[in-house]
Amino acid sequence: MTTIPKPLDLPTRLLHGPGPSPVAPSVLEALSKPCIGHMDPEFMRVMNEVRQMLQAVFETENEMTLACSGTGSAGAEMLADNLVEPGDKCLVAINGVFGGRFAEKCRRAGGEVETIEAEWGQAFDQDELIARIDEVKPKIMMIVHAETSTGVHQPVDRLAEAVHKHGGLLILDCVTSLGGLPVKIDERGVDAAYSGTQKCLSCPPGLAPVTLSERAMHKVQNRKSKVNSWYLDLTLVGNYWSGNRAYHHTAPVNMNFALHEALRLVLEEGLENRISRHRRVHEKLKGELAERGFEYASDPKNSLPQLNLIRIPARVTDEAGARAKLLKEHGLEIGGGLGALAGKCWRIGLMGHGAHEENVEKIVAALDDVVPVS
Ligand SMILES: *Cc1c(COP(=O)(O)O)cnc(C)c1O
Repeated sequence: MTTIPKPLDLPTRLLHGPGPSPVAPSVLEALSKPCIGHMDPEFMRVMNEVRQMLQAVFETENEMTLACSGTGSAGAEMLADNLVEPGDKCLVAINGVFGGRFAEKCRRAGGEVETIEAEWGQAFDQDELIARIDEVKPKIMMIVHAETSTGVHQPVDRLAEAVHKHGGLLILDCVTSLGGLPVKIDERGVDAAYSGTQKCLSCPPGLAPVTLSERAMHKVQNRKSKVNSWYLDLTLVGNYWSGNRAYHHTAPVNMNFALHEALRLVLEEGLENRISRHRRVHEKLKGELAERGFEYASDPKNSLPQLNLIRIPARVTDEAGARAKLLKEHGLEIGGGLGALAGKCWRIGLMGHGAHEENVEKIVAALDDVVPVS
């Protein structure tokens, strides 16, 4: 007979890696409310409010704004699958893990993918991007706003104009920027964007906010071939989120409750206040780290406040061991480096509910214990 495991008894963690981020108690409470039907009029109201709040956080009036079921990667796939038609020329900017993944999604959707690359840890110069856009004339251009793998903030305010000049659409990965940096979807002319719940929105992982402009939806509605994915087909999912409310799939009801509360918290604090809090707390961490000889590995002009990429100092001989000790003895999770940065860098997240001065104090105290200066 199989032995039945005991009910879960989990340690409390200080989540300061690349996500998930710490979740506020009221969000956990919303998550544990009694489940209701996914076609219940009360749930429809929840969906409407989630959409309205997502519009406010994305700073858009796009009607097609919803929480795709699945994590951030599902949102990325929703946009690639719906917006890329076989044979479409796509231009994907790669300076970390997530651009590379999007390029692969475009290829799988039948796109002809061109890339432009920058060194990991560096932002792209917009003039170089625009020159490449003029050369490739892409139907789809995609770039990551906040590269969580490298801690880089990518300026994107001038790209849409260049992409639109050639009749293309600009897709922005806002997984780590939404709720932590201004994304300004409408002002910047971004045609479609996706995010995730577990970064600066500080909700557990499980939903992917997405938004598409009318131009982007025009492309989806006039496709020559059907969207390859049935589950992520926006003409079907969109009808469930608005339109005729036709059953498509069972929305993760309680995750939508949690997102509802997480978004409420963002708007109660005020988007601008929240963004400046991220900046202020980042400055504090930066100062504390500098005093201890830690250096940033990301381009200092374009460092993300919510994701700090730091070089592992020479005094640390066993970086994985040090991170394991931080977790075991201090309950502190920080991220290791990804790809080319593995073993060289650490990633310290200060996202959403975790971006507070007292969290910085806890992080610094743990580092002082595990990797002391002398
Ligand atoms: C976390 C992340 C993703 C992927 O999201 P998942 O929720 O892990 O599927 C995509 N892009 C960026 C920039 C991210 O930080």
